[in-house]
Amino acid sequence: MRFRALIEGYQEELVRNLQGLIRIPSVYCEDGSGYPYGRPVQDSLAYMLDLAQEMGFSAAHMDHQVGYCEYGEGEEMVAVLGHLDVVPAGEGWSVPPYEGLVRDGRIYGRGAMDDKGPTIAALYALRAIAESGLPLRRRIRILFGLNEETGSADMKYYREHGGEIPVMGVTPDGEYPVINGEKGLITEIYVCSFRQEGPLRLLEMRGGTAHNIVPDYAMARFACSPEMAETICAEAAPEIACTRTEEGVKIEAFGVSAHGGTPQEGVNANGRLVQFLKRLPLEGRLAAAIRFLAEKLGMEYDGASLGIAMADEVSGALTNNFGVLLGDESSIEVRLNYRYPVTKRFELCGPQVQAAFEAAGFCRTAATHKNCLYMAEDSGLVRRLMQVYRDCTGDAVSRPKSIGGGTYAKMLPNVLAFGPIFPGDEVREHKPDEFMEISRLLDNANILAEAMYAMAAE
Ligand SMILES: [Zn+2]
Repeated sequence: MRFRALIEGYQEELVRNLQGLIRIPSVYCEDGSGYPYGRPVQDSLAYMLDLAQEMGFSAAHMDHQVGYCEYGEGEEMVAVLGHLDVVPAGEGWSVPPYEGLVRDGRIYGRGAMDDKGPTIAALYALRAIAESGLPLRRRIRILFGLNEETGSADMKYYREHGGEIPVMGVTPDGEYPVINGEKGLITEIYVCSFRQEGPLRLLEMRGGTAHNIVPDYAMARFACSPEMAETICAEAAPEIACTRTEEGVKIEAFGVSAHGGTPQEGVNANGRLVQFLKRLPLEGRLAAAIRFLAEKLGMEYDGASLGIAMADEVSGALTNNFGVLLGDESSIEVRLNYRYPVTKRFELCGPQVQAAFEAAGFCRTAATHKNCLYMAEDSGLVRRLMQVYRDCTGDAVSRPKSIGGGTYAKMLPNVLAFGPIFPGDEVREHKPDEFMEISRLLDNANILAEAMYAMAAE
């Protein structure tokens, strides 16, 4: 191992500087400071650029949107993409979230693992390469992203303002051994407006909190006569509760929550609710919209009735999540999140979904699409990274992974997610008491050094 001894020599300094970085609560905010992601995020960038310059690297930023440091010479550049912004601490911590407490071989704090720890590990990895004096054919750039947690506008800015695109790169913001496939990700909002007709009138409808979570609860309130409320309450179905109210009836559906990327692991309460509502004596456009949602979405997770079911060997089936359902006296809103296989295209599903909703009287009011990402196992980058991973860990069993979610890798061409979480290790990002073992910090620095070297020298 070329770099391990050097990196072990940096341990004390690396931990101390990571503590300093964790002490900057770099959560996105609009604070009127003039910095695009707020003063604390800017402070975290200044901190890293100073540290990089102290190590002798050239360092710069692009309009406070994203920073980078660089080492080496050559026409081509390879990159490591990390981010310095963090999600808010949230509740439930047993240690201070912004102190960088070291205890029992671990460093605690928001960002320790996502992504301040791995990003600072990358900087020390670059220092080890520089100090080794080994010759390189390409420049190595470490990018300090500042907006990964709230939309990745940083990397969009970088791409759109002439930021150099690496020929190869990694982002230590996923998992090992390497993520070589990420499904295409589409989030859409559809709205249907109506005028109430008939004896049963919708007052409120509410199910789910986010497009990417399978809802475990959904409800609808209607105004109607006591007799009709009585009839509806007698229709009791499994996992559906009907209650008489002052104005009419309240209907509640229960399901099981799951991540939106694996909706088959949950039971969708929105689907259950609309399937029950479909049997009620609704009229007009509202009745048509409910019928459409019950028949084309329902409790399906694969988009079959929408006509978009598809799969490939690398990443499995398309998944669809009916994440949010909102309604009032004049409109209902649906938020969908569907993910298509890594070797397929948006054109095979996006237009079909939109056409189906429009035919049922809905308008699309918002849409985002993140392309799928895929690099074959025999591509140059996947081969290099798998070799590095095996050499460093001795793990010859783990294979490159395809996932349903999207990582930061999608934001920059030619980049794959590589680390920082090892197979079998607990995922602690975004949770209370986030920490990283100091030994894992050094493992990451070492693997990143080997990966940078493999990309830049070979
Ligand atoms: Zn992250």
